[in-house]
Amino acid sequence: MHKKLFIPGPTEVREDVREAMNFPMFGHRMPETSKLMGEVGEKLQKLLYTNNFIVISTSSGTGLMEACSRNCIKDKALHVTCGSFSERWAKISKACNKDIDILEYEWGRGIPASDIEEKLKTGKYDTVFVTHNETSTGVMNPLKDTGEMMKNYPDVLLCVDAVSSMAGVEIRTDDWNIDVVLASVQKAFALPPGLAIAAVSAKAMKRSAELDDKGYYFDFHAFKKYWDKAKQPPTTGCLNLIVALNYQLDKIINEEGIENRFKRHEEMAGIVQDWTRKNFDFFADENYLSPTVTCIKNTRAISVTGLNEELAKRGAVISNGYGSLKEKTFRIAHMGDITPDEIKWLLGEIDDIIA
Ligand code: PMP
Repeated sequence: MHKKLFIPGPTEVREDVREAMNFPMFGHRMPETSKLMGEVGEKLQKLLYTNNFIVISTSSGTGLMEACSRNCIKDKALHVTCGSFSERWAKISKACNKDIDILEYEWGRGIPASDIEEKLKTGKYDTVFVTHNETSTGVMNPLKDTGEMMKNYPDVLLCVDAVSSMAGVEIRTDDWNIDVVLASVQKAFALPPGLAIAAVSAKAMKRSAELDDKGYYFDFHAFKKYWDKAKQPPTTGCLNLIVALNYQLDKIINEEGIENRFKRHEEMAGIVQDWTRKNFDFFADENYLSPTVTCIKNTRAISVTGLNEELAKRGAVISNGYGSLKEKTFRIAHMGDITPDEIKWLLGEIDDIIA
C-alpha cells in the first residue's frame, strides 16, 4: 500500500503531476528547452516577487547551498544557525575553505533580525547565511525583518535557504533585499526530487564575477551564459522535472492562486498547532512556528517508530525527530499539495492509535 507522505520532503506528488512527466524526450539544446525554461523562469519570478535572475539547477538544494558559499563569500561570512540544516550550511562553507563566523542558537529557537544586525555592525562580514525554515526543528525565521534590516548593509549579501518554505510561504525577494534565495522542488513545490532553483540578484552576480575559486558546475555565471545565449541549462538538465515544474507552476499561479496556496499552508499549520497544544507540546519557540512543518515534543513518551508502524497500515507516514531528536520529537509536514482535510484525517488516525 502506498503511504501518503506527511514527511517534510519528499512530499506527496499528485498523479497529474507524475503524468505531466510522461512525454517524448527532446534535447537540451533544442528550441523546446528554450521555450520551457523561459516560461519556468518567468513563473518563478512571479512566485518569488522578483526580477532577479533565475537559476534552474539539476541538483538537490544542497548543490545551490554550496553555490552560495562559492559564489558569494569574498573575505568573511556570517552563518546564523538554529538547527541541523543551518549548521550544515556552515559546514559547507568551511568545506569550501571559506572564512566564516557562526552565530549559534540552541535548536528550536528562532533568530531575531536585531541579533544578526549586531553582528553585521562590526563590518567584518560580506555575506550572511540564513535558513528561512529549519526543517529539523519546525522554526521559521523572520525573513521579512532580516531582509528589511539588510538595506542598512548594502555591501553585504543575504543568502537564504528556503528549501522547505518556498512555494508554501510568501517570500518577497526584491522587497526584502534577498540576494540569493534557493530551494529544492521536493518540498512545498510537491515535485519529485532532483531539481533546485534560486533567484540571484545583480549584486550577487557581480560578487560572483569577482571571485575565481568557484569550481565549474555551480558557477552562477555558467548558468547566466547559457541563459543569455538561449535560455538553456549549462549542462544536460533533468528536463522531465523542469516540465513538471512548469506544469505545477501553472497550477499554483493560475488554478490555486499563489496567495491561496500560502493561506492553505497557514490553515494546515493552524490545525496541527491546535492539535499539538491539546495533545503534546511544541519543540520550537512558539513565536516562530513554521507554516510548513511542525516539530512536536514527545511529552507522552509514545513510541514514534511504533506510531509510524501503525500509520503505515492505514496508509500514511510522518517523520521521526531529526538526528538526536529522534523519539524525543516527531514531525508532521503540512506542505505541498496536501489538503486540510488530509491533515485532519491524519490527526484522527494518530488520535485513534495513541488513545
Ligand atoms: N535545507 C533545508 C532547510 C532542508 O530541509 C533540506 C532538506 N531536508 C536541505 C537544506 C537539503 O536539501 P536537499 O536534500 O534538496 O539537498
